[in-house]
Amino acid sequence: MDQYDVAIIGSGPGGYVAAIRCAQLGMKTAIIEKYSTLGGTCLNVGCIPSKALLDSSHHYEDATKHFEEHGIEIPGEIKVNLEKMIARKQGVVDQTTKGIEFLMDKNKITVYEGVGSFKDATHVNIKKNDGKTEEIEAKNIIIATGSKPSTLPFIKLDKERIITSTEALELKEIPKHMIVIGGGVIGLELGQVYKRLGAEVTVVEFMDRIIPGMDGALSKELTKVMKKQKVKFALSHKVKSVERKGDQVIVKADNKKGEEVVFEGDYCLVAVGRKPYTDGLNADAAGVKLDERGKVIVDEHLKTNVDNIYAIGDVIKGAMLAHKAEEEGTLVAEILAGQKPHIDYNLIPGVVYTWPEVAAVGKTEEELKEAGVAYKVGQFPMRALGRARASMDTDGFVKILADKKTDEVLGVHMVGARCADLIAEAVTAMEFRASAEDISRMSHAHPTYAEAVKEAALAATDDRALHV
Ligand SMILES: Cc1cc2nc3c(=O)[nH]c(=O)nc-3n(C[C@H](O)[C@H](O)[C@H](O)COP(=O)(O)OP(=O)(O)OC[C@H]3O[C@@H](n4cnc5c(N)ncnc54)[C@H](O)[C@@H]3O)c2cc1C
Repeated sequence: MDQYDVAIIGSGPGGYVAAIRCAQLGMKTAIIEKYSTLGGTCLNVGCIPSKALLDSSHHYEDATKHFEEHGIEIPGEIKVNLEKMIARKQGVVDQTTKGIEFLMDKNKITVYEGVGSFKDATHVNIKKNDGKTEEIEAKNIIIATGSKPSTLPFIKLDKERIITSTEALELKEIPKHMIVIGGGVIGLELGQVYKRLGAEVTVVEFMDRIIPGMDGALSKELTKVMKKQKVKFALSHKVKSVERKGDQVIVKADNKKGEEVVFEGDYCLVAVGRKPYTDGLNADAAGVKLDERGKVIVDEHLKTNVDNIYAIGDVIKGAMLAHKAEEEGTLVAEILAGQKPHIDYNLIPGVVYTWPEVAAVGKTEEELKEAGVAYKVGQFPMRALGRARASMDTDGFVKILADKKTDEVLGVHMVGARCADLIAEAVTAMEFRASAEDISRMSHAHPTYAEAVKEAALAATDDRALHV
């Protein structure tokens, strides 16, 4: 039987990063993945393919709607070749997952393909696709089995017309009318892809606003911009049934007044969140405890109730984000090596890759109000930036929340072009506990979108933004 210092079950961004860090720290490492490609949800059916389609559809939208304003004329009709677009996306995925294989090889990590299930706290059975089973032994085991799309109890996903994000990444046709249940990140990103490609898109959301976990100002701005893009929103609507009739899908919901509203479309994307995945893991055999929602219970060091078993990523509490899973993978590897790493969960940024992009880190205004923290706000509109006007991406703003007394930055929230990248500055500043004045006194290259961060910091410091 092969023996390891550490075995990791699941090869998503949590698992494969943990494996690399364990190997870097000198541990003999194995990783077990049930699929034939590494990289988990993120690389195969999550972050990477969704961004590939967002980018392709954005180019199409630019070509059909914005090139003309830039003085670029394309004779003849511009058409979408969906098959080619999806094939390109798959090419990006294949290249990226192959990259992880290379990294496993480079770091001398043994990869096992098959479903890993606990035999006991130090042994894992690996059931391979050909039915054969192999057993390995490991001093430490990291559970990194991730998550799967969740649904509502009364919805029967047929994966053809009533679909999850996984199927939405490889549709064979552009929907005429896609009904998206859920105004969270995944629903909005994929809804925007198909809207740009020509579908009518209606987002039906239970709460009274989209991206409910984020600062209210971001929800408001993104709703406004997406409405301009002709995405329809049915907020405060409680979906009660989803039914397929031939090629049609009928979604019934109750609005705020309790009246029934019927939506008819040809596709329904169910994007109501994700649930932890532990099927086939046989966590019981190792004595690992799960909570009532199926999440593996861990302490502050991400250790389960069993001494040598840890868990990371989507399968435990906290934000379901690839970079959160990666940080946790690194943390556990370093703990196993006897180090004392730390993650500040308050500084894990959240991003929505719509266009304009939405990004945030730290506390929202709602959270500060609820906690009774005295704060000040500095906000700067993208439209006041030369860079934004040059590219005609003038929607959005940067909003900085700072402590009223100490000026320490407590939260940064932004909507606009390239915010997914801009948020890194805010994370860095907050990691170093910068004040708004610190940011405002740093030189920001001109003309860039980053100038909006400086201007918002000037506004927060003492209301002295320069360009408004
Ligand atoms: C459409 C979509 C878009 C997304 N976009 C983003 C984004 O832009 N940015 C971002 O930060 N996050 C994004 N996410 C979320 C992100 O994908 C997850 O947070 C991330 O993948 C979680 O990583 P993980 O390592 O915990 O688990 P996963 O990536 O889910 O990987 C778990 C792996 O474990 C394997 N596995 C499970 N059980 C077993 C077993 N018993 N034996 C062997 N293998 C097993 C699974 O097959 C899987 O490969 C997106 C998700 C979706 C669905």
